Amino acid sequence: MVAGGDTLRLFEQYVRPGREIAVRSPMRHYLDKKGTEMPASVEHRAQMMTSWDLLYHLLRWRVEGLESEYVAGLEQDERPKAVYENGCTVTDIEDAGAEGVKLTWTHKDHGEGQTATADLVIAADGASSSIRRLLAPEVERRYAGYVAWRGTVSETELSTTATDALSEKFTFFHQEGIQILGYLIPGKHGTLEKGQRLFNWVWYCNHPDGSQELEDLMTDTHGKRHPITLPVGTMKPQVWEKQQAHAKEVLPPQFAEAVGKTQQPFVQAITDNIASQNSFLGGKVLIVGDALAGFRPHTAASTSQAAFDALTLGLWMTGEFDKQDYESRVMQYARDYQKHGVMLGERSQFGRHPLNG
Ligand SMILES: Cc1cc2nc3c(=O)[nH]c(=O)nc-3n(C[C@H](O)[C@H](O)[C@H](O)COP(=O)(O)OP(=O)(O)OC[C@H]3O[C@@H](n4cnc5c(N)ncnc54)[C@H](O)[C@@H]3O)c2cc1C
Repeated sequence: MVAGGDTLRLFEQYVRPGREIAVRSPMRHYLDKKGTEMPASVEHRAQMMTSWDLLYHLLRWRVEGLESEYVAGLEQDERPKAVYENGCTVTDIEDAGAEGVKLTWTHKDHGEGQTATADLVIAADGASSSIRRLLAPEVERRYAGYVAWRGTVSETELSTTATDALSEKFTFFHQEGIQILGYLIPGKHGTLEKGQRLFNWVWYCNHPDGSQELEDLMTDTHGKRHPITLPVGTMKPQVWEKQQAHAKEVLPPQFAEAVGKTQQPFVQAITDNIASQNSFLGGKVLIVGDALAGFRPHTAASTSQAAFDALTLGLWMTGEFDKQDYESRVMQYARDYQKHGVMLGERSQFGRHPLNG
């Protein structure tokens, strides 16, 4: 993922891993269909690229002291303060008056009906948020008419031609109904070492809601239809083979090569969701991150939103500004990026991009 300013700030301020967390891409550029760089598109603007697994392991290390290969050799400068209860699914939430908010959940080992009362609940339960569904059932998560295919290839597996076009650059290709982009991300256990990083690509493809091709794509090898993504390793081989063949027809050769060399493809239906408020039950429940607003990936700002919401919460809690200010800053960010993402996605997939190759 692109590590935006807020993500980097959150890690600097709270996680303090004492190591770099991102690969630097010093420029962005567009290729045409033949794979030639479009000179007018070259922009020398550095962007930092990281990976979900590295952020996840660093966060859990800081929050609750989880050890893993990702944090080998890192020193904790203070004891972790939180408990991370893995395997809990919230099933209900209700106002408990002066007591606070009562939560009910199912625990993977202890079963259903677990409860606790809290002063404040921060719902960071993702774009399909159950807490949002309970408190604001009118908010829908809607399919946007296209999916993102994603994959990674070891940087050393790319040919010289592909490496020249794609390595340490943020590379794009646009044509009507198509967008593909790619960049280097950290490799195994978060390494940033040259030769051990991964080339990560994201390819948006249009599939109308209800179409046979979408049904086929989102139905796994066991015949189960999934709404958003498929569990790892369950994409039907014929679906992936067809997509790889399609890559050769419509993509610049460097991108087609990366798609062709990908072992573990990943698909994600692009969706929209935004709640009209982020505070519920008199301010005792706050909704943050994707649960509040799911951005289209073109913004490269979704992780940044989660980071921004956390940083802003910290500022309110330490008295930098009041609760109303907290709420309006978080809502403003959510509304602005959600709208911007819809504009970028609609232009890319259903309109005409100014740098079509
Ligand atoms: C393939 C992919 C690539 C992405 N790339 C980028 C990128 O390049 N840049 C970027 O900024 N963003 C990217 N994103 C988006 C980014 O991952 C999300 O915006 C971010 O993870 C949102 O964080 P969150 O904490 O709000 O929600 P999530 O990360 O979705 O976390 C929600 C958590 O809540 C848990 N949960 C759900 N329901 C319940 C329940 N009922 N009870 C208890 N727990 C529950 C889930 O298990 C999960 O752990 C990408 C997303 C995907 C899927």
